[in-house]
Parts: sequence; structure tokens; C-alpha cells
Amino acid sequence: MKLNHLDYYRLPWNLTDNSISWLEPTSKCNLYCDGCYRKNENAHKSLQVIEEELNVFTRLRKCDGVSIAGGDPLTHPEVVEIVRMVKAKGLKPILNTNGLALTKELLLELKKAGVYGFTFHVDSKQSRPGWKDKTEIELNELRYQLASMLAEAGNISCAFNSTVYEDTMQFVPELVKWGQKHIDIVQVMVFILYRAVNNTKVDFYLGPKKIDMGEFVYNEEPVERTDIKAEEIYELIKNEYPDFDSCAYLNGSEKPDSFKWLLSGRLGTKNKIYGYMGKKSMEIIQTFHHLLFDRYLAYSTPKMTRKGKSMLLLGFFDKGLRKTFFNFIKNPLNLFKRLHYQSVMIIQPVDFLEDGRQSMCDGCPDITVWNGQLVWSCRMEEQLKYGHNIRSFPKDLIKS
Ligand code: SF4
Repeated sequence: MKLNHLDYYRLPWNLTDNSISWLEPTSKCNLYCDGCYRKNENAHKSLQVIEEELNVFTRLRKCDGVSIAGGDPLTHPEVVEIVRMVKAKGLKPILNTNGLALTKELLLELKKAGVYGFTFHVDSKQSRPGWKDKTEIELNELRYQLASMLAEAGNISCAFNSTVYEDTMQFVPELVKWGQKHIDIVQVMVFILYRAVNNTKVDFYLGPKKIDMGEFVYNEEPVERTDIKAEEIYELIKNEYPDFDSCAYLNGSEKPDSFKWLLSGRLGTKNKIYGYMGKKSMEIIQTFHHLLFDRYLAYSTPKMTRKGKSMLLLGFFDKGLRKTFFNFIKNPLNLFKRLHYQSVMIIQPVDFLEDGRQSMCDGCPDITVWNGQLVWSCRMEEQLKYGHNIRSFPKDLIKS
């Protein structure tokens, strides 16, 4: 299915004014997920270094939230203090974690420190103790446990992301269905399409020097597809939900008509989805948030996402929400029900183009700090090893 990017709202995020930024307080992790782009090393950053990195963000870039990632941030012994530091800068602290080290006690401490939300990475390629060899569907039980913990703690945003491989993409519609079943306690479902270096198509260079990519964690002989597109996942979801539609996107830095972040917003209850947000609503929300708070919106708390009925007022300007409104009031008794909002995001990381260029997410929200500069978090191993990003060219174009 070929979507026309011009039919959707281009999220206004850019290098200096974005919804989120990406902080990596540690590269240590307590799992070894396939497709991870960071070396699992026992390297926690000090609070002083973290403070300096946060200062780089606040000096160079407006943002609403900070994804505290890694590694796994919960392995950092001072994670509570890190959350407090992010909050003290007026930013929303969002923990990107596999959830393995999360206990009720730690969650309460994090809540007191001001945590705004969690993005749990849960998928079937994590060799997770107690959950080895479970399918994506069987892992829904774990997802439910994690979401329930947050719901019990109260008003903390809950997102799930999973890396999508050729052999797991078939499960995406089921996961979207599971998201609907728990729309009252899950605010966001994210699907990140698996990427790895593709040595069969391109050669890699640092200046004139050819680089052996074998040293990188994201180098792999591509036994599986490394080029799944957001549109394919969109189509799969549409098979399950024929009305499924998106409202906004980020394009590729080298390919304007590609969908690097493809966002859908749906309104419904545990039993039924009544409709989808259109491009005008997302434009109004982002624009007004920026007018009022001087930054673009990232993440919303359950208290806000359960106000789906108020969002229907935007139906005056938005075709998608107008249709949702009429679907909803077909049964007037619905007016006594709570209507929830939930986001579904598909992320399509770096693409290698035929001419060797690497197309990144234009307006990368997951940009991080290295050496005082903003760099793509998905390619930071290159910075760590060489101090630069590596360029690629079609295979054997340059004869040495
Ligand atoms: S460019 Fe890389 S780091 Fe930035 S949003 Fe895309 S995948 Fe994430």
C-alpha cells in the first residue's frame, strides 16, 4: 500500500524544537535483546555528566519530554535522582526500560521523584528470564502486569514498544487489538521496525578509509528483512481494523515521501474503537501546545487520555473526529461512557537507499548528546568508535 505523505500532517518537530530528547545515563543492560544498537557495557554515567548532558539539551533544543534510556536506565543506581533532575528542569521524565528491574517500591520512589511515563520494551527476542520462547501474544500477560503496576500507582503514562522482525510482523494486529482491550491503562503502542547494517548492498567509509562494520553491534548478516516499511505494518493493521488511519508523520531526511514516524490516534473503549484522529486535530493540538507552553507535546497522562469526549469537539475542524463523533453518538447511552484516546506509532529507522545514502528520521526526536553535540542515538556506536558517523556508498563503487 502506498500512502501519500501529503495527505497527513507533518509533525513540526525539528533539530532545535522537538517533542522529546534522548538521555542515556548508562549503557548497561540486564537483557540481551536482538537488534540492540548499543554495546552492553557496565558503564554508568555520573550525575555530573548527566547534568551536563541535560544542559546541552536545554541550551540547544526545546523539548517537552526526555526519554531516559540506555542500556536499561533502571540498572543505574541513581535512577531516582536522574528522574528528579529531569523534572527539576521542567521536562517530563519518561523511562524507556525493559521493566525487568521495576518493583512496586522503586515505582513509588520514581513517582515521588516526578516520573511522567514509562515506555516498556517488551518483545519475543529478548531472552527474558521466565519468558524465554514466549510468543508476542503470550507476552501480553507480561505487558498487562507492567501496565497494571502503573495503573495502580496512578496517573503515569504507559507505552509499550516492540521491535518488529519479518517473522513477528504477523503479530502486530493482535498487539494492536490487545492495546484496545487495555485502552484504559495503555496510552501508546509503538512498533519499531528492525534494522541492521546491510553489508551486501553498501560499503562503509570514514573519509577515504573503508570500514569493517563487523565491529559494530548493529552489524549482522541480514538473515531477516531489514527493510520492512511502515506502510506494510499500516496495511497489516488495516486488515484487522479496516477504518485504521494515521494522522501525522515524520519523513525521511533523504526520502521525503517515506514515513519514518507514522502516528495514528484512535478513540474508543475496551470493546470498540469509534474512530481515528485526522490530520487537523493533530495540527491543532501541536500548535496550541506550542503557543501555550512553547514546546511541542510529547506523551499525555491517563487523566488526559481518558477525556476522549472533550477531544471530539475538535470534530468541528477535523473530518476524522467528526466521523468518530457520529459513530459514538449513534448509541446515546455512550454519552455516559468514558472515551479513551490511544496512540499507535510505527517507527521506521535508517533506510539504505540505492545510491548508498542513509535516510534518517527528519527531525529526529530520539537525538542524544555525545561530546557536547546532538547525535542520532541509533547510530551512536559510530560516534563512540570514530567520533563521526560513517558514510555508505553502493557496494564496490569506490575501488581501493
Ligand atoms: S534517526 Fe535514529 S535516533 Fe533518530 S528517531 Fe530515527 S531511529 Fe531514532
